[in-house]
Amino acid sequence: MYNKEYWDEYYRDPDNRKAKNLRSAAHYARYRESILRNKREKRREEPENYRASARKWHATNKDRVNASRREAAKDLAKRDPVLAKLNNMKRSRRRKALLAASTDGSVTACAIRDLIVRFPCCPYCDVLLDETNRVLDHKTPLAAGGPHSAGNLIPCCRVCNRAKSDMPYDKWLSSIGRSNEH
Ligand SMILES: [Zn+2]
Repeated sequence: MYNKEYWDEYYRDPDNRKAKNLRSAAHYARYRESILRNKREKRREEPENYRASARKWHATNKDRVNASRREAAKDLAKRDPVLAKLNNMKRSRRRKALLAASTDGSVTACAIRDLIVRFPCCPYCDVLLDETNRVLDHKTPLAAGGPHSAGNLIPCCRVCNRAKSDMPYDKWLSSIGRSNEH
């Protein structure tokens, strides 16, 4: 009979764990084709399950996903600069369309100037902002249905903006240990 405690104890030993990993790797190398085929079939048969677990994986591995996207973009720029440029144009067109669809008309030059004056430092990490590192962050991301409005914009530094990505504002603040002061 399977004794969980016994095996848990057994695999606490690094040597046993290492041997098991080697066996797994050998098994994978030997049956790679059929393992991948089974996975593909399962994905075709249960697309909903597959999508749900893929979404979950992406949400918990955001850093890895973003890093590999950046790598892929760099790769493509080297391999096929024309296609890379086309992709960038598509992305910026999509971004412009999203901005146009989400705007309420309150983001005037005056409103932006006012924000810049009110926030001399990044509200997330306190670094001094200037034209080289300042970006305007949508507190509630456009992708999450936030409006392109003066009230939803806050100046912050490029680094924080990238780290925040499309995280909801409250979740982001609590993840960096700050309260909602703005
Ligand atoms: Zn910052």
